[in-house]
Amino acid sequence: MRESIGLYLHFPFCRRRCYYCSFVSTENREQDIPVYLECLKREISNHSGRFHLKSIYFGGGTPSLMTAGQFAELFDCIGQAFTIDKQAEITVEMNPGMLTSGYMEDLRNCGVNRLSIGVQSLNDDELGLLGRLHTASEALAAFRTACRSGFDNINMDLIYGLPGQGIETWEKTLNLAASLGPRHLSLYCLSLEATAILAGQIEAGILPPLDPDMAAGQYELAEAMLDGYGYRHYEISNWAKPGYECRHNLSCWLMEPYLGLGVAASSYLEKHRRTNVACLDEYIYLVCSGAAMLIETDEETGCDLQLAEAVILALRLENGADIARFNREYGIDLLKHYSCQISELVDLGLLSRKENSLSLTPKGRLLGNEVFWRFLPEQPS
Ligand code: SF4
Repeated sequence: MRESIGLYLHFPFCRRRCYYCSFVSTENREQDIPVYLECLKREISNHSGRFHLKSIYFGGGTPSLMTAGQFAELFDCIGQAFTIDKQAEITVEMNPGMLTSGYMEDLRNCGVNRLSIGVQSLNDDELGLLGRLHTASEALAAFRTACRSGFDNINMDLIYGLPGQGIETWEKTLNLAASLGPRHLSLYCLSLEATAILAGQIEAGILPPLDPDMAAGQYELAEAMLDGYGYRHYEISNWAKPGYECRHNLSCWLMEPYLGLGVAASSYLEKHRRTNVACLDEYIYLVCSGAAMLIETDEETGCDLQLAEAVILALRLENGADIARFNREYGIDLLKHYSCQISELVDLGLLSRKENSLSLTPKGRLLGNEVFWRFLPEQPS
């Protein structure tokens, strides 16, 4: 019997790198897309016959740089290697500014039924600051084109906590986005790795530093506003209209198995978390030379770490950690196992204990990391 899993495919190409980006992506290498897709197909074929797919997620990078023909070829390959659930959620991440209705209709014909559009802001000054290539009106046009092309299940990604961003511009972006009625909104607080261009501009004093208090206020505003628009805040950074929660990501947060293919993609199978090499040239070289191993890291998630990860991921969700499920699946008494952490976090007002579950309080959602690290096992020194 085939194991039922989610499939993630990483596409690491972008037209230009955004000024905040810390994802595995490259710019000015679009000529390498064909060879990369051949590598992906080889990786897919290596897993032939093993899995039944509940969901497929094309992430990046900018997967919408692929032509409709390239998508169709990938889907052929996926269909030969795996069985695909009739109800499978199939998502493609895309950037505005390059999307036509013909392209979107071709994606629908391939089986894609969910789009995730990287809108980020509906303010042109903010889009410029982020180094995005699209304008606000192009983002709105992309959303409308997607709707006209028959897509009902659309996510918009937005970013808050930008340097110098006030509450008013964020409120305008949120209001405009929510009034369009996308089924799903992902709101991310800007965080910068030292190598990001924006981090350098802040360091040089060209931009003001990030303001965590302002970001907290923007998050609270989103919580209050989106409720009024009929969204359910089902995960720390994600809001959805009822029934439109992202099933692929939900399955990852519940530590269900998934296979990740492509450069830097991670899998979680048989209680192992494996991650492919993160260097594009190395990935292509290894696949082309028929290497059996593309894996850079392979951790067996020991009991303590696995339990901690499962608790942390479950706490990200609105429903929190189901105590009975944890007791059953891990053969422990969750409340006793973490009694010190739980009583401290409840006292701090970060965690709420109900009869059958543990969940973050509104304050805990704002200060998630303060909660999460307490569940991690001590690392050997
Ligand atoms: S589109 Fe996404 S992956 Fe590509 S450079 Fe911008 S932030 Fe990075």
